[in-house]
Amino acid sequence: MSIPRQPSCDDPVEPELMPVVEAKRRMALMMPPIDDTEVLPTVEAAGRVLANAVTSPMNVPAATNSAMDGYAINSADIPEHGEAQLNVVGEAYAGVTHGDVVPSGSAVRVFTGAVLPKGTDTVVIQEHVEVVATNASQAKASEHGAHGDLGAVRIDHQVQAGRNVRHAGEDLNIGDTVLEAGRQLSAADIGLIASVGIVTVTVTRRLKVAFFSTGDEVQPLDKAICEGLPQGMVYDSNRHTLRALLNALGVEALDFGIVRDTFDDTIRVLKEASEQADVLVTSGGVSAGEADYVTKAFHELGDVSFWKIAMRPGRPLASGRIGDARFFGLPGNPVAVMVCFLAFVQPALKLRMGMKAVEPFAVPATSISAIKKSPGRYEYQRGIATLNKITGVLEVKLTGKQGAGRLSSMSIANCLIVMDDTVNAVNAGDTVTIWPFAGLLP
Ligand code: AMP
Ligand code: MG
Repeated sequence: MSIPRQPSCDDPVEPELMPVVEAKRRMALMMPPIDDTEVLPTVEAAGRVLANAVTSPMNVPAATNSAMDGYAINSADIPEHGEAQLNVVGEAYAGVTHGDVVPSGSAVRVFTGAVLPKGTDTVVIQEHVEVVATNASQAKASEHGAHGDLGAVRIDHQVQAGRNVRHAGEDLNIGDTVLEAGRQLSAADIGLIASVGIVTVTVTRRLKVAFFSTGDEVQPLDKAICEGLPQGMVYDSNRHTLRALLNALGVEALDFGIVRDTFDDTIRVLKEASEQADVLVTSGGVSAGEADYVTKAFHELGDVSFWKIAMRPGRPLASGRIGDARFFGLPGNPVAVMVCFLAFVQPALKLRMGMKAVEPFAVPATSISAIKKSPGRYEYQRGIATLNKITGVLEVKLTGKQGAGRLSSMSIANCLIVMDDTVNAVNAGDTVTIWPFAGLLP
């Protein structure tokens, strides 16, 4: 006789597991965007989420101007054959305009960004003219320095009408949408908003996210420094990982410390955190074990859905609400914490922050590792992606052993290899989807 086996995460596919896609759909419903907004100076708004679209109050460029260093001319003066000589009647720099109308048969020396002088419609680059020193200019130059008479230039019939001119409103017209609502403002966005002279922007209120660790074995770092780690204990890593992830996301992270494995402690801290924060994120204590009080406490205080999600790592996940606060109870294993955060919590927080594009950026890569994988569940494995310099192909390999407790695998990795529930085994040479960790721009 053998002992009957209950369903567990040891099974390749358990009955009653919730598919990842379904879990994501339910979480999205739980996370409507917060509707509080605030008005901020543009220069302080990087990382915040636009609540209203930004429209341009001006044309960009504001005035028609020269795209090159050269000579502004009237295209009517371009000769049909051979060459023409034009008197240089003035100069215009970026920020210093030549105000007078330029008469026919004349040119103005212009530099990049200078407003195109009235009466001209074309800029001939300086490399395409022949500068002619007139008698008058030579005489004046010796009297007054170079600024007296500006001489003349010769151009030929190859000059094209309208070249090297940037027209007013070419990039943006008054009233055009510069940025849509729901964007987390990047460095480029801030510059773009500043470039149309907008001083303040309306953004969603900064989300407050409370987080804490659970577990009698979990030791704070301060204690570690004084006394060393007692047997059977682990240093708290999840809380510090979560804080860094939340800071990078641009939310206000509220640290509620380590909560012991008792029902009363868990209730007390959950209550306090749910009064102060919009969202709660906890780690540990959501499995089916005796000492797992988080789900029980969630049940006591609010509406909870506890899901065994068809994924690895990170199968158990509790989510729901206590009053107005939403919560996510993540598993305790450090890798599972990070994977669940990236796959579920971060997109959900982004939705609540008012963002529209919330899913991780996914790209295809060629796996150079063979990867064992059971169908019927998502697997998120730690990978190292590199561009093969010879073939130009983006390749990815596993970091090595993939245990859910091996945080070093996350540290070494520069991407997650995401295999959906339809994928069976991956052979070397197969295309897989990766989520790169690296963000080039803030
Ligand atoms: P649990 O989900 O509470 O059963 O925890 C699963 C595993 O994760 C256990 O080995 C815990 O010791 C470990 N763990 C839980 N919380 C933390 C934490 N804050 N930092 C590091 N490891 C943790
Ligand atoms: Mg625990």
